[in-house]
Amino acid sequence: MTSRDGYQWTKDGGLTQGVPSIGVIQPPTHLESTSSDNFDVIVVGAGYAGLTAARDASVAGLKVLLLEGRDRIGGRSWSSNINGYPFEMGGTWVTWGQPHVWREISRYGMRNKVEISQEYSHGVNTFSLASATGKRVMSHDEEDQIIESGLKKFVNIDGEYGRKAMPFPHDEFANPKCKEYDSLSAADRLKQIEHKLSPDEYTAVCGFVLLCSCGDLENTSFYEFLHWWALCNYSYEYCVEYLMKYKFQTGQSSFAINFFQEALSTGNLSYVFNSRVSHIRDNGKVTVVTAEKTFGASRVISAVPLNVLNDISFEPALPHGKRAAASIGHVNKCSKVHAECTDRELRSWSGIDYPNNKLMYAFGDGTTPSGNTHIVAFGASHNHLDPEKDIGKTIEAIQTLVPMNLERVVFHNWSNDEFAKGAWFFSPPKMVTNYLQDMRASHGNVLFASADWAVGWRSFIDGAIEEGTRAASTVVQALRSNTAAASHG
Ligand code: FAD
Repeated sequence: MTSRDGYQWTKDGGLTQGVPSIGVIQPPTHLESTSSDNFDVIVVGAGYAGLTAARDASVAGLKVLLLEGRDRIGGRSWSSNINGYPFEMGGTWVTWGQPHVWREISRYGMRNKVEISQEYSHGVNTFSLASATGKRVMSHDEEDQIIESGLKKFVNIDGEYGRKAMPFPHDEFANPKCKEYDSLSAADRLKQIEHKLSPDEYTAVCGFVLLCSCGDLENTSFYEFLHWWALCNYSYEYCVEYLMKYKFQTGQSSFAINFFQEALSTGNLSYVFNSRVSHIRDNGKVTVVTAEKTFGASRVISAVPLNVLNDISFEPALPHGKRAAASIGHVNKCSKVHAECTDRELRSWSGIDYPNNKLMYAFGDGTTPSGNTHIVAFGASHNHLDPEKDIGKTIEAIQTLVPMNLERVVFHNWSNDEFAKGAWFFSPPKMVTNYLQDMRASHGNVLFASADWAVGWRSFIDGAIEEGTRAASTVVQALRSNTAAASHG
């Protein structure tokens, strides 16, 4: 099945919109009952937060309706299988260091379905570090040394590389002094330490920090970077282990489909895809309005991202803190671009090219069934790229990173996506410390679940599952206690 989402360019076919995915749901509508206003809970959004919430609520015996604007499940995490190879259009890497996602991988018997992205056993085996003043090619050991020593200087605000400042990453405000770091941007922090950084370390730190935020250095919160660093055991080695190493052999959509199918197997799940929610009204019972139809339920779980929350109109209006956070939005305008080339030796290549290249961080990510190399590349908003608007510039950016015999380019432009308006959550300064509780709070009978305001692996698939679990369990408990109260009364 082909999704409307995503783009593909090939030498012969040029640029085309829409790529195949097993995440596309056909038929798009399935209503278990003809009545549209008596659901226990309506879940808006079929990303991992919404899928987890819909599954948990269905398994608990609630009548669930899942509404999704796209033609597919997975939201910001989905894969396109092209000629037998899964290109990850959004969220990709998972690890046993992320507790919620690993529990699900275990639940669906996929522990032995992950593979390692990097392959440094043959080929060029080099890292290119390009800055405004030139390019150096070096070994991966040198790559690790430069990035690690630069990052250690960047995070060392307490003499213990962040351990004292943020001792419990899953309880991030345990040391309230840590909040002070949320007034610093990455650019502010770099100014404090730039005299200690070599030119190579400076370029490497900029490239790595921008790989995490995909904003620009001025709008990237230093605090949020520190949170990622703490989640990664305060070490560059674990940043690589946890952030970009282990991925599904069969792609993210092959994982997400399990949540959907389990929910469906209960007989409690109804769904409508291609169904954009425009209004949510709460008069004690909640009404959810789409272009085609209006639905009713006791509770609603809104599982849409922060950057599109204000596109839904709520009655009563959302409280100030939630609206303010959504108006500010997160800063991630990532361009993630896949390049398939015939150069087998590039499988072991990686590179950073900052600030001039529109794709600033890239590495060999796989080998296709035909033996081609797959390189994944990331761009950020300091030098923004809209690949579908100028495929020529995109190809130029790839070829500047490393010259190759390019066969195919595959991407999803998250910045221009009407249902995301950005990629993974990354906060500007002061957003998390000012608004995290507002983002997480429920509003009457409407609950909010998203990776964007998870307390653990915020911004990750793990955080989405954490949040979907929280929302479903709150709804299940509330409706059970209502039933218990009614039967006693
Ligand atoms: P989403 O996945 O965004 O789901 C929200 C759903 O709501 C979407 O399906 C959307 O279509 C729907 N929706 C929105 N508005 C409406 C509306 N009005 N009506 C109906 N439906 C609506 N995480 C990792 O763990 N590892 C990674 O390697 C990684 N890499 C990433 C790379 C990229 C390029 C991107 C974009 C993300 C990456 N992430 C990664 C982050 C991860 O993908 C997300 O944090 C996670 O998938 C978010 O899940 P979610 O359910 O909270 O939101």
